[in-house]
Amino acid sequence: MGTERVGELASRETEEQTAERTLQALRKELDEINAEILRWLSRRAEVVLEIGRLKLRQGINRFDPVREKEMLDRLAAMNPGPFDDTTIRHIFKTIFAASLQLQKKEEEASLLVSRKRHPEDTVVEVGPVRIGAGVPAVVAGPCSVESYEQTRAVAEALREEGLTLLRGGAFKPRTSPYDFQGLGFDGLKILREVADEFGLKVVSEILAPEDLEMALPYIDVVQIGARNMQNFALLKAAGHIDRPVLLKRGLSATIEEFKYAAEYILAHGNPNVILCERGIRTFERATRNTLDISAVPILKAETHLPVCVDVTHAAGRRDILLPLAKAALAAGADALMIEVHPQPEVALSDAQQQVNIPEFRAWLGEIRRMFGAVV
Ligand code: PEP
Ligand code: MN
Repeated sequence: MGTERVGELASRETEEQTAERTLQALRKELDEINAEILRWLSRRAEVVLEIGRLKLRQGINRFDPVREKEMLDRLAAMNPGPFDDTTIRHIFKTIFAASLQLQKKEEEASLLVSRKRHPEDTVVEVGPVRIGAGVPAVVAGPCSVESYEQTRAVAEALREEGLTLLRGGAFKPRTSPYDFQGLGFDGLKILREVADEFGLKVVSEILAPEDLEMALPYIDVVQIGARNMQNFALLKAAGHIDRPVLLKRGLSATIEEFKYAAEYILAHGNPNVILCERGIRTFERATRNTLDISAVPILKAETHLPVCVDVTHAAGRRDILLPLAKAALAAGADALMIEVHPQPEVALSDAQQQVNIPEFRAWLGEIRRMFGAVV
């Protein structure tokens, strides 16, 4: 090799080495810029959270589209390039969206119903029954209280089965005003009387805030029905009583809306709330509602409240109540609700979905066989 060629090679090597060194230096600069951007993003997030807390205290909405547009316009106006304005807007919009998400997460974690705020399970005590303490509870009874004899027959069966929680509707939320509306206070009196005879506890729905106070002597757990899940006056009133509340999920309520409904009751002073999944409206007509089984583990994970599953109103038919109950307990439910009537065929409401007493005993026996004790 001639000396000329050697020199040429040597100088190419140094060129490559120089390029490599420049690349390394540029990469180092990029890493530093990334770290700097991260520091500023984190600092920005802190400020966003502080603004979120202020807004929450003042009751102002988190998302302010006008303010967001102003910020984007200002950024586009001062954009030095080389990114075009659309790209800059896109990048900052993503940052804004992530920030809003951050505020939302913090707000959710600060809710009274949130497990992040209150990690231990809430146990709701109804006499000897501790709902949420590990042993599944069963709430059973007729859709509507129709007579003393009808209610007593179910109560007697509950006692024989060693159960405590007797349900029965006295104030009925019927779709048609011409359907049986329930016996009202007379129904509550029947419930109290038979419950006391057999040492049971009464779970019954109240429709109106003004009935709540007067109903308390007769009721051990106040049920707020699906149709009233967002009756805010009723939720607030239920927050002021010293009685557990069984809150049913609205027919078309999201899990988030359900949690906020429970939040109303807790925020007004009553921590004893049981959440009840009872099926939601979907396009499916094979069942009256669609049991949202996913709601059970989600509510258990995101809240500290006990979760009940009403298999009867979810299904709207009596032939699949056993598999639904098994699914509910397998998914982590703390309690089950089932409608039981001595003669379902002639029931004044929900005739097609209630089980008779022998069917109820068989259902319960199967649950016990699979899951052990229930109360
Ligand atoms: C009920 O339990 O009696 C009842 C009316 O249920 P829901 O509110 O879930 O329809
Ligand atoms: Mn019913």
